[in-house]
Amino acid sequence: MKTQQINNFEPNELGYWGEFGGRFVPETLAAPLEKLTDAYFAVRDDAGFQDEFLQLLKDFSGRPTPLFYAKRSSETLGGAKIYLKREDLGHTGSHKINNALGQILLARKMGKKRIIAETGAGQHGVATATVCALFGLECVVYMGTEDMRRQALNVFRMQLLGAEVRGVDAGAKTLKDAINEALRDWVTNVDSTYYLLGSALGPHPYPLMVRDFQAVIGREAREQILEKEGRLPDLLVACVGGGSNSIGLFHPFLNDETVKMIGVEAGGKSEKLGEHAARFNKAGGGKIGVLQGTKSWLLQDENGQIALTHSISAGLDYASVGPEHAYLQSIGRIDYAFATDDEALEAFQVLSQTEGIIPALESSHGIAHVLKIAPKMSADEIIIVNLSGRGDKDVNQVQEMLSENF
Ligand SMILES: *Cc1c(COP(=O)(O)O)cnc(C)c1O
Repeated sequence: MKTQQINNFEPNELGYWGEFGGRFVPETLAAPLEKLTDAYFAVRDDAGFQDEFLQLLKDFSGRPTPLFYAKRSSETLGGAKIYLKREDLGHTGSHKINNALGQILLARKMGKKRIIAETGAGQHGVATATVCALFGLECVVYMGTEDMRRQALNVFRMQLLGAEVRGVDAGAKTLKDAINEALRDWVTNVDSTYYLLGSALGPHPYPLMVRDFQAVIGREAREQILEKEGRLPDLLVACVGGGSNSIGLFHPFLNDETVKMIGVEAGGKSEKLGEHAARFNKAGGGKIGVLQGTKSWLLQDENGQIALTHSISAGLDYASVGPEHAYLQSIGRIDYAFATDDEALEAFQVLSQTEGIIPALESSHGIAHVLKIAPKMSADEIIIVNLSGRGDKDVNQVQEMLSENF
């Protein structure tokens, strides 16, 4: 799987893309993050490390994931040809395993024996617990108690894999609160502990590192579409929580000017602050600011307090977005849209019944946007949408929401 590295969307040495990114952390974390950055740059171009990573992606996770032509959806919608990048078929059911495998190899290189992570929907927690079991490392996962309720099955899955799940009862009891606790743990135990962050977020070097590990998605998709169609796609679509599955798909296409890209955020119940997680939507309260180590777009009230967020999907329910997205939005390279809870729930059912694939509620936001725009495109245009995960984890929640209709 040799592919050329396209490198002009790199952050500077301080981890900034334009004005976004950086490293806003307490003093105690400055030196550990510098060490982590050095360790990461040492393996980034190391053939031995990259080979081991690719081998695990292949043999442990089952890559490459297929690029599937969604024929019935394409025909029913009567517009563009729609392809699904099947990250739902990766081990543990989402793209999260790509990053977890990359970072666990780095943690081992750094001699760390204890791994901590945060999780929203539970998918990153499961991926982290999985790679810790694979290498026999201690694993502690922080999770908001509201997310634990929504994703009870994933909590049990992590426990089965030998991880300790620590419930976080602060704030809205979701992802932001779990990240705070994980950072607190890291500050206290930084010598023994590796913090395996789950999205393209946080202080430098995490946004860069996570993006690199997820870029395998876009490299494969690029090869696969060239093989199937003999040309590049016209449009890429992916849901955006912290931004890792989307940047993973988008990044290897950034230099292809003909390829448009749309990131789809969680529109929640309404555009009212507190009822959604659409950070790029100014009308909904999106502003530039600093949260959890990085400068980016985030949802805050008029006093600069971080706003509560809401989404039907725990994995998109976060007040900020990865800094590389903020930069790519600022230069107009990527457009951002949002899909509401209702639209995602509808897309969840449409894809299930049209393609025989039950998507994650997160991925359903991307699908929802495709349902809106594919009919407006022509039959010779091509969309690739990232199916970031499978919907098994969401079936109970959806059953509750639909119970009146069944
Ligand atoms: C975690 C998750 C997301 C959102 O996170 P990103 O970092 O934005 O990719 C999307 N889809 C699934 C299935 C997830 O588990």
